Amino acid sequence: MKIRVLGSAAGGGCPQWNCACRNCRGARDGSVRIEPRTQECVAVSADGEAWFLLNASPEIRAQIEGFPALHARRLRDSPVQGIVLTNGDLDHTLGLLCLRESHPLVVYATEPVRRGFVESNVLYRTLQRFPGQVSWRTLRAGAEVELWKDGGDPSGLSIEALAVPGKLPVHLEGLGLVPDACDNVGLRIRERGSRRALVYLSAVGRLTPEVLSAAERADCLFFDGTFWSEEELRELGASEKRASDMAHLPIGGVGGSLAALSGVGAARRIYIHLNNTNPVLREDSAERAAVERAGWEVARDGMEIAL
Ligand SMILES: [Zn+2]
Repeated sequence: MKIRVLGSAAGGGCPQWNCACRNCRGARDGSVRIEPRTQECVAVSADGEAWFLLNASPEIRAQIEGFPALHARRLRDSPVQGIVLTNGDLDHTLGLLCLRESHPLVVYATEPVRRGFVESNVLYRTLQRFPGQVSWRTLRAGAEVELWKDGGDPSGLSIEALAVPGKLPVHLEGLGLVPDACDNVGLRIRERGSRRALVYLSAVGRLTPEVLSAAERADCLFFDGTFWSEEELRELGASEKRASDMAHLPIGGVGGSLAALSGVGAARRIYIHLNNTNPVLREDSAERAAVERAGWEVARDGMEIAL
């Protein structure tokens, strides 16, 4: 399986348009050792020809242009055969609205994520210009499904959704929607004929036995790296919200993922969905050193992995 990180940052990216925190400033003026990052989106493929996107970031157009394997090969064409959504957050779904231009799309999502994007969303009409413009394929927790090429052939990849503690997207809060265990999922992706698994957990509110078990069965693990600490935004004065209010388990601290996942043996363990305030983004920070000492990597745009 080929894996390419198109974007590695959390919502807002780094630098974020309305932020001049140490990291954002440094990403602009070079005063800090930090790489700019676009918002989270990862491409996977079995054969290097047919690709599937994990989430569709608002920066999808530039992300596709930045990776030649995703360029159209002829008039009105795309190697992108499908898009898999892990939740309905805007930084994961806005890109769908940027992939219009009358191109048929196949979207894999759980039913609550599909409903949250489609219902009461007048902008969704831009993806309903002709019958069948979007084909939704339902993901159910614990059920492994094939990813199909748009010609109807199997792609060689299969995917299983894993219910992971999360929360409703911010724009769906306060509307009386009943939270669902499948509002937020992780993904386990395997290539046919291989026992190796990519486990993709870019938003994890807290650890459950299911999350731990999935992480332990991974050969390559992507994990929620949004925040280093529970109080990160509050200490900076950027927001009143704690990491847990936003359903993100921090990396550091006693209950953080670095300590909790210390027994995970995956050959590649990578933090992704990195918020621009996170000190692990600075290549010379103590937090980056702690992560790397523990055998973890920090995702960056353009990172490629062969699994
Ligand atoms: Zn910032």
